[in-house]
Amino acid sequence: MDMFCFQCEQTNQGKGCKLQGVCGKKTTTANLQDRLIGRLINLANTNQPTESLTKFIIDGLFTTITNVNFDDRSIQKLIAEADILIKEPLSFEVTYIWNASEDLRSLKSLILFGLKGIAAYAHHSWVLGYKSEEVNNFFYQALKSIVKDLSTEEFLELILKTGEINLRCIELLDKAHTETYGHPTPTKVTTNIEKKPFIIISGHDLKDLQLLLEQTKNYDLNIYTHGEMLPCHAYPCFKKYNHLKGNFGTAWQNQKKEFDGVPAAILFTTNCIMPVQDSYKDRVFTTAVVAYPEMIHINENKDFIPVIKKALELRGYSEPKKFTGINGGDVLTVGFAYNTVLNEIDKIVAAVKARKLKHIFLVGGCDGAKQGRNYYTEFVKKTPKDTLILTLACGKYRFNDLQLGDIDGIPRLLDMGQCNDAYSAVKIAFVLSKAFGCGVNQLPLSFILSWYEQKAVAILLSLLYLGVENIRLGPSLPAFISPNILNVLIDKFKIKAVTNPDDDLKNIMKYDSR
Ligand code: SF4
Repeated sequence: MDMFCFQCEQTNQGKGCKLQGVCGKKTTTANLQDRLIGRLINLANTNQPTESLTKFIIDGLFTTITNVNFDDRSIQKLIAEADILIKEPLSFEVTYIWNASEDLRSLKSLILFGLKGIAAYAHHSWVLGYKSEEVNNFFYQALKSIVKDLSTEEFLELILKTGEINLRCIELLDKAHTETYGHPTPTKVTTNIEKKPFIIISGHDLKDLQLLLEQTKNYDLNIYTHGEMLPCHAYPCFKKYNHLKGNFGTAWQNQKKEFDGVPAAILFTTNCIMPVQDSYKDRVFTTAVVAYPEMIHINENKDFIPVIKKALELRGYSEPKKFTGINGGDVLTVGFAYNTVLNEIDKIVAAVKARKLKHIFLVGGCDGAKQGRNYYTEFVKKTPKDTLILTLACGKYRFNDLQLGDIDGIPRLLDMGQCNDAYSAVKIAFVLSKAFGCGVNQLPLSFILSWYEQKAVAILLSLLYLGVENIRLGPSLPAFISPNILNVLIDKFKIKAVTNPDDDLKNIMKYDSR
């Protein structure tokens, strides 16, 4: 075995990547990432916490998330930096986790992968100046615990704590986003591209978008979001930039096809980069924790001039170009985070009481390349007309161009934003449970989640921490959850795998027809 990685949904044969990552990660990169995680564990166990060390641990963990960093040199640099910081070498290596008994490996992986997700959200908050002592301290606590062989009960407690801390972290990120950029408002976004030079900005980082918009406002070019940047159109602060025109393409896994020969510069801010193809490798730029060999990396001074020059050189399309989502629609509506939805909560409650609204589905999470993900498109298409769909993250590209109509003026499809805006879903669920005087699990509300990488693991753990039951998870269950640990999750939370849209819908709706 040359490498071992099973942290994402597309892992080889649902077991683990051992020769090369299905994501394109090479053996050397996987082993360097393991070495880096080993160094971070060492640092957390033996060094005194400091602000700079915490930031180093956060960015190091984020670097190892799926589709973030394929660049051996940048990972080697982080390892070298860690070696300088390490005061007392520890003999622990990540391979001890991979080689542990199946259940121990499962429990420790849940914590480690959840922690990587938290690190991503902590990074986004941090760059906007928002930090939490509670969140930061947890990185040390968790990394100290995974070197120990605690009991299953003790690890389960820590797994739920990971979910709790992630909730604090996405709450903090929501505060960072809304205090800096305003509360999202309903906004229609075109998928069509104008005739003019343009830059496509991908990833999750709102600060990078802001800096790019500011630096490009006096140039004759346009900016289009991609992937998880789509929700940015709904923030008041970004609406003032007239050259932020629309959204390019669909979810991350289609980038090789959609970027093929595109006459634009592409900036990857924090994740979701795939192996770069020859037809567009001269126009890809990375920044922050994202890196790919030979691509130009924009460093922390965030001078985007090389990106701007490339976009001007490529000139964009010579005529306006029509693009659509995967179902043929060319308008995407965003901006239904909690502030918007809670303004309509009385209407929603009244519609439920009047039996005009029978059920609310949260269909959200990551998209991915593996077959079976059309489950989510079919599920949404088959939902009855007297139901609402809340959605978030990039899994929504499976259905966000559908026109599903409305119920008494409430759009049936409500896009709450990025994966971290699961915070909105949680807020809405708890307001509804208060309004109906029941627990979240008694509401006519179901969670139909799609997962791909480690941020989704963190979000799942937050929902489990909140006691949410009957989550349907797909398209396949994580390889790192052992049968015994899965049984524990089934017993405690009634978590289940998605089956097929018809059966799942029938099973969910039968409780609402009573
Ligand atoms: Fe395999 Fe996923 Fe790991 Fe890539 S991130 S090596 S696809 S398990």
